[in-house]
Amino acid sequence: MRIAVCVKHVPEGPSRIDPSTKRLDRSGEGSLNHFDANAVEEALRIKGESGTEVVVVSLGPQKALDSLRKALAMGADRAVLVFDDAAEGSDLVVTSRVLATALEREEPDLVLFGQQASDADGAVLWAAVAERLGRPVISQAMELSVEGGSARVKRQTEFGYDTLEAPLPAVVAVSDAINEPRYPSLKGIMGAKKKPQEILSLADLGIAEGDAGEAGSRTTVLALGDPPARGDARKIEDDGNAAQAIVDFLAEKRLV
Ligand SMILES: Cc1cc2nc3c(=O)[nH]c(=O)nc-3n(C[C@H](O)[C@H](O)[C@H](O)COP(=O)(O)OP(=O)(O)OC[C@H]3O[C@@H](n4cnc5c(N)ncnc54)[C@H](O)[C@@H]3O)c2cc1C
Repeated sequence: MRIAVCVKHVPEGPSRIDPSTKRLDRSGEGSLNHFDANAVEEALRIKGESGTEVVVVSLGPQKALDSLRKALAMGADRAVLVFDDAAEGSDLVVTSRVLATALEREEPDLVLFGQQASDADGAVLWAAVAERLGRPVISQAMELSVEGGSARVKRQTEFGYDTLEAPLPAVVAVSDAINEPRYPSLKGIMGAKKKPQEILSLADLGIAEGDAGEAGSRTTVLALGDPPARGDARKIEDDGNAAQAIVDFLAEKRLV
């Protein structure tokens, strides 16, 4: 069996928008999206129970290799990075197109995603990729088992739990409650350097430059702005009389 895990390299620290591109500034340090560490961990848990190959796949800048290497250090078998200057500025639809094409090449039985990317927070890419692959998708998996050609998932909802089953090949987005990702060991970090790491261009995937990046994206960020300033806010410092001050404030507003 082969499991492909989609992982994103996200900027570290507070997010900053570059006013010239109206996009997130990704020039600084980055790291493996922490939600995706849960997906890698789950793949490794399944791998431990069977003769499974785990391949980690990312679309991103060359620095995204650092995040892929972290996944390799955790125990994944090989990594595929789609890196191409012409892919910069890809919106969600284009990102799903590029990733789905890279995944088709791998012919995985199971594709795992994290629940969301901590930078863009879309929590939607897995659905778009599953649609392109024509595969069933289950999100918010907090338990996952693979048996008899099916993925069985306990899914967390607002009202309780659903237990769902989908025939393989399938796409599953895991919740961050599914497991506790392991830390890579020193041996894992050293071993990661020797594991296969493939870098693909858009041309390698048969995608024309005009179909990716800004050129291929049909959404444009028109404007950015700060949230409106808070109106009539009053800050009450607690010098021992805060409770009375709050009651006085509410009485003044005729709310009590
Ligand atoms: C106009 C526009 C321009 C943009 N330009 C850029 C850009 O230059 N660079 C950029 O990085 N983003 C760019 N984005 C954002 C990019 O479209 C989203 O990051 C991408 O569609 C994924 O959405 P998300 O980050 O909300 O992921 P979510 O839907 O929250 O992610 C869910 C899961 O999908 C997987 N995943 C997400 N992204 C990737 C990835 N890249 N590779 C592998 N797996 C992934 C992970 O498993 C993740 O947990 C742009 C968006 C717009 C609208």
